[in-house]
Amino acid sequence: MLSIIIPVYNEAENLRLLHHKLIQALDNLGREYELIYVDDSSTDDSNKFLQEFEASNSKVKVIRLARNFGQTLAIQAGIDYSHGDIFILMDADLQNDPGDIPKLLQKIDEGYDVVSGWRKQRRDPLFSKKLPSFIGNKLISFLFGVRIHDLGCTLKAYRRNIIANIRLYGEMHRLLPLYAAMNGASITEVEVSHNPRLTGKTHYGWERIFKVSLDLITVRFFEKYSTKPIYFFGSVGVGMLMLGAMVGIAVIIRTVFFQGAWISPLLFISLMFFAMGVQLILMGLLAEIIIRIYYQSQKTQTYLIKETKNNKINH
Ligand code: UDP
Ligand code: MG
Repeated sequence: MLSIIIPVYNEAENLRLLHHKLIQALDNLGREYELIYVDDSSTDDSNKFLQEFEASNSKVKVIRLARNFGQTLAIQAGIDYSHGDIFILMDADLQNDPGDIPKLLQKIDEGYDVVSGWRKQRRDPLFSKKLPSFIGNKLISFLFGVRIHDLGCTLKAYRRNIIANIRLYGEMHRLLPLYAAMNGASITEVEVSHNPRLTGKTHYGWERIFKVSLDLITVRFFEKYSTKPIYFFGSVGVGMLMLGAMVGIAVIIRTVFFQGAWISPLLFISLMFFAMGVQLILMGLLAEIIIRIYYQSQKTQTYLIKETKNNKINH
């Protein structure tokens, strides 16, 4: 089954047309589907419309969050309440076109795990959206080796098994394909059309750039060190200790051979490096304890199986 998941926050003016286009596109597919709207506690008439849609069509499900949790958590709620083996995520603002859904599904049917929409003709402001996103996408495909042009396009299709064990936090829906790639997903992209936002206004501004940068550091960290954080903290820590030792030796040489003073800024710099090094190594040990608790309490595996015949895990 197919699950379409749509986070909605104050999109009342867009909903009727969106719903109409969606139902048309989905009915034409000839597949079993469910259409899940997650109302992120809208303060306008959005919920009224959604209730109407739900009442008139048994394939529509509406979930209303208790407060405005943000797009990512709205998507997570949608995933949790969905039953499909394929998800399609989409915005409610009509910038994406429901008519593109068959294109995405075709790639899923070819065997890909993630199909990403690529807004080749993107209709958004240049400086606040297109430029930062161009630079971001280049950087990401360079750093992560995930060769897609448009990570930020919400219109994407995923196989359930590839993201079912990923919990979404913060605003990480933007980087979901990277987490999927960490799980070994095969990823491709198809061109999709894009419209300017006609009504309502964008919920994100410039601050997005800083958030994405920090999120990228987080993904990188998880990708490399999620089961061995001490390698990260420890290597920085050891680097600090070595710097401390070098500066310390310089101070000793200066005092013993060149009659320099013991007490000088260099001595304190050396001590500072030592203290930081020890702290970092201790933080690494703490992180090791934390990840052990994390994996064992959640019964989360430190690895992920692609397939195995008739073999069940032995807890
Ligand atoms: N959205 C949401 N909760 C929020 C902010 C946004 O559910 O707190 C929804 C919004 O209704 C839209 C989608 O997330 O369906 C994307 O938002 P927007 O169009 O503002 O983002 P942009 O396309 O400008 O990046
Ligand atoms: Mg939008």
